[in-house]
Amino acid sequence: MDNTEFSASLAQLLFPDIDKTPEYYEEMYPDRGLAEGARVTRFAPSPTGYLHIGGLFGALVDVLTAKVSGGLAYLRIEDTDKKREIDDGVSAITNGMKAFGVEFDEGVTGFGTEKGNYGPYTQSKRVEIYQTIAKSLVEKGLAYPCFCSADELSTLREKQEADGAAITGYFGKYAKCRDLTLDEIKANLDAGKPWVLRFRSDGSEDKRITFEDMIRGKIEMPENIIDEVLLKSDGVPTYHFAHVCDDHFMHTTHVIRGEEWISSVPKHIALFKACGYKVPKYAHTPQVMKFDDETGDKRKLSKRKDPEAAVSYFVDEGFPKESLIEYLLTLISSGFEDWRRANPGVPAMDYPFNLKKMSSSGCLFDLVKLNDVSKNVISVMNAETVYERVCEWAKEFDGEFYGVLTADLVRSKAILNIDRENPKPRKDIAKWSEVKDYISYFFNEYYQADYTLPENISPADAKAILEAYSKVYSLDDDKDTWFQKIKDLCAPLGFTPNVKEFKQNPDAFKGHVGDVSSVIRIALTSRRNTPDLWSIMGLLGDGEIQRRLADAAAAYERI
Ligand code: GLU
Repeated sequence: MDNTEFSASLAQLLFPDIDKTPEYYEEMYPDRGLAEGARVTRFAPSPTGYLHIGGLFGALVDVLTAKVSGGLAYLRIEDTDKKREIDDGVSAITNGMKAFGVEFDEGVTGFGTEKGNYGPYTQSKRVEIYQTIAKSLVEKGLAYPCFCSADELSTLREKQEADGAAITGYFGKYAKCRDLTLDEIKANLDAGKPWVLRFRSDGSEDKRITFEDMIRGKIEMPENIIDEVLLKSDGVPTYHFAHVCDDHFMHTTHVIRGEEWISSVPKHIALFKACGYKVPKYAHTPQVMKFDDETGDKRKLSKRKDPEAAVSYFVDEGFPKESLIEYLLTLISSGFEDWRRANPGVPAMDYPFNLKKMSSSGCLFDLVKLNDVSKNVISVMNAETVYERVCEWAKEFDGEFYGVLTADLVRSKAILNIDRENPKPRKDIAKWSEVKDYISYFFNEYYQADYTLPENISPADAKAILEAYSKVYSLDDDKDTWFQKIKDLCAPLGFTPNVKEFKQNPDAFKGHVGDVSSVIRIALTSRRNTPDLWSIMGLLGDGEIQRRLADAAAAYERI
């Protein structure tokens, strides 16, 4: 029997039920007919039921790369590793993407749903495709069944380690099943021995390959020599083999994935070539890191230790989607902040992203910076938007607060509009979960009096200020008159309306107009720092103002 006959018989023996050919799938998944230069990218997570912030980061790179080139990005679920899979591990991924407005043109859209002509986009539904290609590799003499047991493989590894082999694994002279005869294979199959399908590598230990990583530039590595497993004993492919078939049939032009995959590139290039497929371009993205709180060392964001490693954390905390995307873009591309300054108000996803300019070193995820970015983002939203978004968040995470906010929506919006919709808006709110505390003093159900005074003011003076003020203020006053009245309180009570004068001669006064307003602010809001007090008073209303001034004065009297 010559080699061709041997291979054909072996292919039939191993895959008797596979009646399709690679050509069948070539026809089924034709060229996409996109314009020259249009890039096809994919986000290809495993459905672990958890979306890591690094996943969102990677997905953004995929979507932006496709978008700027006039191409498309799709979402593929890589569920061939049953050990890692959980029931409906997909929703965490699709929900996380939706929550932050990251949209794919094609692929999986939710648990059991998808869109696009190149599906199914879930690997477990593509087993026939992989087996068809696997069968064709056997026909070409490029793959063979291996019957070695787990024990045999670990004995092999031990032996290689004892020999001091530079490379360990199933290859060359160690690959026991490489040259089994058809009769031997038949006997093993008849005996019901489990088998995996292995790639017959023609790589050599002293050859190297080079490839161009879009982010890292030219990379040179030893050629692959390992007879990698293509199909596991249950007929399900390994990631290595499955993604090669998928990226080919889905016409991926750029494989963008985490840097942990760099070491597998020689293997993948060998597989693309063995299948007769064009090797895609590669881009390996850096990891998302943080400074460890205890050691201060830079380390990978960890699912176990860092709540902010999960995309769901940002949903729960109520970070607006714009803020997280805006922040991730500052990590993804050093040019983003300059672009943002030159293009305020333009959607972040319109950023003309350039994959080649992405940094290859780990990016530092910094919650403090995210908070700053988010405060900026929220500060330029109008009150209507803030109201809607807070309500949307509260409805899901704080039903009681939702009820409070919606009970009088005109008032709630007016509260949220203080110091907003002007050229210099306040930058106080970073996430929706902060809003309740931020505006709690407007609502009696949340208000908790705290009349602590600054050290330089005595309770007796505070009481005198409040009593005098309760007699003079009027809600009809415009802002200037309102402030003038506070200034007018100063002199009779031993304070000065003039801060400069106070600084020149501090011993001559009990304090200045700032101290007087502080006393009033504390009495009305129990805070030292609030947005515009004149606006706050307008929204508290006379009855409440009088009550709070009197309560505070009475509290100071008791001290
Ligand atoms: N399924 C792989 C992972 O979750 C994806 C690697 C790739 O994008 O090719 O890491």
